[in-house]
Amino acid sequence: MFTRQTRQKEFVLENLKQRFDHPTALQIFHDAQQHGIKIGEVSIYRILNNLVKEGKVCKIVTKDNVAHFDLIREDHIHLVCNCCNRIFDRELDNDKHLSNLIKDFQISKQDIVLHGICKDCAKILNDKEKE
Ligand SMILES: [Zn+2]
Repeated sequence: MFTRQTRQKEFVLENLKQRFDHPTALQIFHDAQQHGIKIGEVSIYRILNNLVKEGKVCKIVTKDNVAHFDLIREDHIHLVCNCCNRIFDRELDNDKHLSNLIKDFQISKQDIVLHGICKDCAKILNDKEKE
């Protein structure tokens, strides 16, 4: 028998597994509503933060102070643009997995976020400078 809490947690995990758009707690909340699952936004936030503590989910806070969530997947890292607040996945080649690069350290959690300026914003900034 699943408790209500277990079901809610399963829903959040499944939701994250199926999407790659780094949703906010609010976006997951809207999905829950669409699926007729009774769960409050605060509960979703609590579940997400617990999953972060458990090392299953990573939290990416953009410059506008919005928290986004993604399942921790070893095959990519996150790049966050400080101008447009978009989050990009950068895939790692098989041989570039950190566990292959770092052999003398057992990695239990890979949670890498690089902050900077994306290609599009860099171009806009460059064009402005030329004016
Ligand atoms: Zn950008």
